[in-house]
Amino acid sequence: MKKKISTDCIHAGEERFKSYDSITTPIVQSSTFVFKNSEEIRRYTQKEHFRYEYGRYGNPTQRAAEHKLAALEGAEAAVLFASGMSAIINTLLAVLQNGDHMIITDDAYGRTLSFCKSWLPKWGIEATVVKMGDYDAIEKAIKPNTRVFFSESPTNPYLNIMDFSQLREIKERHPDMIVISDSTFATPYNQRPLELGADIVIHSATKYLAGHNDILAGVVLGSSGLVQNIVEFQKIMGGVIDPHCAYLLIRGLKTFSIRMERLNQSGEIIAEWLENHPNIRRCYYPALKSHPQHEVAEREMNGYGCVTTFELDGDLEDSKRFLDNLKLCYIGPSLGGCETLITHPATVTYYNCTRDERYELGILDNLFRLSVGLEDPEDIIADLEQAMGKI
Ligand code: PLP
Repeated sequence: MKKKISTDCIHAGEERFKSYDSITTPIVQSSTFVFKNSEEIRRYTQKEHFRYEYGRYGNPTQRAAEHKLAALEGAEAAVLFASGMSAIINTLLAVLQNGDHMIITDDAYGRTLSFCKSWLPKWGIEATVVKMGDYDAIEKAIKPNTRVFFSESPTNPYLNIMDFSQLREIKERHPDMIVISDSTFATPYNQRPLELGADIVIHSATKYLAGHNDILAGVVLGSSGLVQNIVEFQKIMGGVIDPHCAYLLIRGLKTFSIRMERLNQSGEIIAEWLENHPNIRRCYYPALKSHPQHEVAEREMNGYGCVTTFELDGDLEDSKRFLDNLKLCYIGPSLGGCETLITHPATVTYYNCTRDERYELGILDNLFRLSVGLEDPEDIIADLEQAMGKI
């Protein structure tokens, strides 16, 4: 069910009356916070009085952004990090310990997968990779020491969708397993995994939440208990968001709901256009009936975002020519910002893989991921059309 969130985007998390009667939450650009006297230190350390002490332990601008994000996600608590990866790694390291086992789905973000497969074993933590969508495989992979199940939805680049109703059934049989969902591609506008059975939600706030391709940030959301454990770990590890970035995130969130409404609409218009275009072999977008988990997406999501993936009718050279002739769409990674971005995974993300290795992972020579921006959809279509005309 669609939630009304515009008012929360504007007001949630921020004090009504702020320093100097400013309408916006100030950027408190301070690494430390001073005490007036020893009595104030006593009251603070005895927890009689809440205040700030040092930048790595929290900052008022960061706190306002966290409270706004918690309201949007329907979470008890939130903690912000300097990037999505910092949020993911701090969460996994805070929750897991030597001897634990975790499960991760095979089409999770490449850096997350590589952390789980190559780095966690160094600390005695084992990760099993299971196929996204294979719920029997998930259940079979669970061991007595399985502590975490980690997945994303929708995934990159094929936009596979997690069926939370099936995941909930598994969780009921394994209540101690913490379910972590990287919901970067869904956002709280289109899906709220905490309401669907996840224990922790993570976002790369770099993407839709901040929305302007101008900052890096990550957020972890969940119950106060789970988030507090991660906050304690952050106090040691660092990886905190800078106050200026936190301000830009607050500013981006003010328009989050209207940006999402428009991005959902434009994403759907352009995916439909691509699917029906003679130069396109295949288009992946959850709203399309041809999408393998269209029915799950319809049941569990409120909208499908601005990312669509497609296969051009051509080879590697045609793909490069198409890319080189784009005039409006920018070539680059990331998604969910104002500017339309296109990536060619074969030559960017998987540049150091052989063709066989790429094809094994489903990364074809002619595959593109398009993050539709806030431009007029007709202009984006015109740009794609003229570039296709050059191949
Ligand atoms: N999770 C997903 C699904 C992503 O796509 C990304 C980055 O693209 C990340 C996490 C990492 O986020 P960041 O780039 O903010 O560190």
